[in-house]
Amino acid sequence: MSSKFSFSDQINLGFDKAVPYLDYPAGLLSQIKACNSVYHITFPLQRANNQIEVIHAWRAEHSHHKRPVKGGVRYAMSVNEDEVVALAASMTYKCALVDVPYGGSKGGVKISRHKYPVEDLERITRRYTYELHEKNFIGPGIDVLAPDYGTGPEEMAWIADTYTALSEDDLNTLACVTGKPVSQGGVRGRIEATGRGVFFGIREVCRDQDDMNVLGLNTGLGDKTFIVQGLGNVGYHAAKFMQEGGATPVGVSEYEGGIYNKDGLDVDAVVTHRREHESIFDFPGAENVASSSELLEYPCDILIPAALQNQITRKNAHRIQANIIGEAANGPVTAAANDILKERGVLLIPDFYLNAGGVTVSYFEWLKNLSHVRYGRMQKRFEESANQRIVEAFEELTNKKLDIDKRQEIIEGPGEEDIVNSGLEDTMIQAYQEMHTARNHHEKSIDLRTAAFIVSINKIARSYRELGIFP
Ligand code: NAD
Repeated sequence: MSSKFSFSDQINLGFDKAVPYLDYPAGLLSQIKACNSVYHITFPLQRANNQIEVIHAWRAEHSHHKRPVKGGVRYAMSVNEDEVVALAASMTYKCALVDVPYGGSKGGVKISRHKYPVEDLERITRRYTYELHEKNFIGPGIDVLAPDYGTGPEEMAWIADTYTALSEDDLNTLACVTGKPVSQGGVRGRIEATGRGVFFGIREVCRDQDDMNVLGLNTGLGDKTFIVQGLGNVGYHAAKFMQEGGATPVGVSEYEGGIYNKDGLDVDAVVTHRREHESIFDFPGAENVASSSELLEYPCDILIPAALQNQITRKNAHRIQANIIGEAANGPVTAAANDILKERGVLLIPDFYLNAGGVTVSYFEWLKNLSHVRYGRMQKRFEESANQRIVEAFEELTNKKLDIDKRQEIIEGPGEEDIVNSGLEDTMIQAYQEMHTARNHHEKSIDLRTAAFIVSINKIARSYRELGIFP
């Protein structure tokens, strides 16, 4: 759905709404908004039929107020310079909001990944990495890549391997990219992290008694229904954790269309059905919905767009029936739609808060790569012995034996994934509290997106002020 504003205009419109609540010189605010550098690359790809195809790719580094910069790599036909600039800007505000010490960046390759065999995807990924290396747009202390739409652990492993091959005598090369397979320096919990963070974020919002009262809803997730657009990494995991957290999925869509059942769906069963039938349609008990955009307008309490930007615009915003929209994707709601929804009393949870779980756990992976040791490895045996003694003392004092599974769980203590997930949960709760405080400061007259911008811009402005400007 088109708009007269580009994707980066949309982000800047959100930024501008926060400006009246801040007290910084116009020049500093302009610098915070500006994208510091963009690199457009073209390179040839030799296909199996010997044809040569020209591939277009980009990397944008939005803000160097903290280094390294960090951001995902997207493989999609929508990729262009404006899209990577917009997504890099969003990364800057996201990292500031959740206190992850990076500037924002983003990259993309203009391809539809389904059209390429895996050998071509590997060649494209390796060549892209090489080009970034040539121009100093990748490195553990420069610019750290990650998965985004259309990419995953496999591409991240190729990036790590290519960068390592090009970097002699550097022990930290694996930290040039996050979202790697665990066996190649990844961290447990990264694959699920963005979706898990979406769940934590929505759960926090639904705990707010005042906000739920205004919407005429109860607190908690237990009696809430939701619809998810996109069953990829973010959408699938968000839906799964929401379901496990007590909410009921009533609608799910993929690019071919959607399904709806007001009595509830099982997310894993839908995924299995789609894999077996190569389509989401005709899921037992559910109504087929011709297009993914049509499903956005179906009844539910929480709508979770988790595919691409510009899904809810001025054209369909007035038909959305959900009370809460959780932006799991980047930029699914345009600035104009945001205004219409606010007017209609819909509570919108902004993308750069809600999907910040990915970069949060990427930060944990980067730290793991730089320290060269798995979380919990050093103290594991020591803690197990201490926990064993506590359990035995408890059993002796109470003269009762603990359940065998519970006993084992307590003795083993947290593993890497538990540590990562608790760090993620804490981060999402803290960031929500900061947005909440900023909004309460203005007596809730501003929306959560504006509150999130206020928090982020304050932190970035502080960096510029304390560090000064070089030279
Ligand atoms: P993905 O490629 O794993 O999944 C996207 C899914 O959406 C795919 O299954 C695709 O078929 C589906 N899709 C495409 N068009 C659709 C449509 N019109 N309707 C319904 N489904 C459609 O990508 P992802 O990593 O899940 O990313 C999704 C969004 O989340 C993007 O906006 C991305 O920038 C954002 N995001 C991702 C991460 C991450 O860690 N992967 C982190 C933060 C934000």
